[in-house]
Amino acid sequence: MTDAVTYLDANASEPLRPAARAAALAAMTAAGNPASVHAAGRAARRILEDAREAIAARFGASPGGVVFTSGATEADALAIGALGAGRRLIVGATEHDAVRAAAHGAALLAVDREGLADLEALAALLEAGPPALVCLMAANNEAGTIQPVAEAAMLCRRHGALLHVDAAQAAGRLALDLGGSGADSLALSSHKLGGPMGAGALLLASDRPLAPLIAGGGQERGRRGGTPALPAIAGFAAAAQEAEPAAAARLAPLRDTIERAAIGDGAIPCGAGASRLPNTACLALPGVRAETQVIALDLAGVQVSAGSACSSGKVARSHVLDAMGLGALAGQAIRVSLPWCATEADMQAFVLAYAAMAERLSRRAA
Ligand code: PLP
Repeated sequence: MTDAVTYLDANASEPLRPAARAAALAAMTAAGNPASVHAAGRAARRILEDAREAIAARFGASPGGVVFTSGATEADALAIGALGAGRRLIVGATEHDAVRAAAHGAALLAVDREGLADLEALAALLEAGPPALVCLMAANNEAGTIQPVAEAAMLCRRHGALLHVDAAQAAGRLALDLGGSGADSLALSSHKLGGPMGAGALLLASDRPLAPLIAGGGQERGRRGGTPALPAIAGFAAAAQEAEPAAAARLAPLRDTIERAAIGDGAIPCGAGASRLPNTACLALPGVRAETQVIALDLAGVQVSAGSACSSGKVARSHVLDAMGLGALAGQAIRVSLPWCATEADMQAFVLAYAAMAERLSRRAA
């Protein structure tokens, strides 16, 4: 065990940005509920509405189209419940469980070996029945694959379908906004772009009423009941201002360096043939279980993840890599995701730990 820790699991959660922390602390020290009419309530309401305007401006939405939620899971469920009512559901095969669980029974849209959605299959699915809601993520959380959202949006429009885009991993890392994407809704998560956990948003292209998942005091104009998590929302807005694709782009050469080194140690990169998130590498080590790799790297002070870690901490076989047709490698791949603050020293730590781990475990597996 080592004391120094190298955190390379940003797709699970980004480290909190200092500006987000400052904004959250400031909101936390202010008394008042945004629903109250007195001065403290009005001050809280100002914080909430400033955050709404900032998120809307940053992601190409109108303030009236921003519904604050607890995170992307809730935003996905809200979109699917409300926009999917009375429609067929079509979801990408590599969507996050947040979408898969909410769109239970949906038709699956196949992906290729790089994780790219098959647009011809989408056109066929759209033609095959009544109007649908399509869910296609902007970028995948495991392989980093960037989906052709604009093309999918055009197809959806042509067939009278709606498109919901889970942008939890893409927001702040790619140049993506609601207006430009052609999507009908976008799900965002604060902690995936360096804000606090506990906030997110559903962005709606049209300022429509929505059936809430949780009814309550009429907050968010009746679209999401419950007192909003003001400190988390203020931090979310501050983080969103700093999470810029141009800054995230500096991570791609760092990612490429460690990927090359790992390939030299016997790793097989997954999804590397498609356009990817700049911070993400998915590396399979033939014959070695992903969970074993994660534990070995953790003991060496390097924190990465495997497949989809569920809340119990158990590692399930990756449905993403399964859908990409990677066979046994789907249980042997780790995800390395660089945080916004990753350094050269972090890369060196990974390269050393990976080489030692691969040498030891591959020898044992042979
Ligand atoms: N969608 C994607 C693509 C994700 O990667 C995640 C989290 O890993 C979520 C949704 C869920 O986000 P949240 O933690 O904000 O509920």
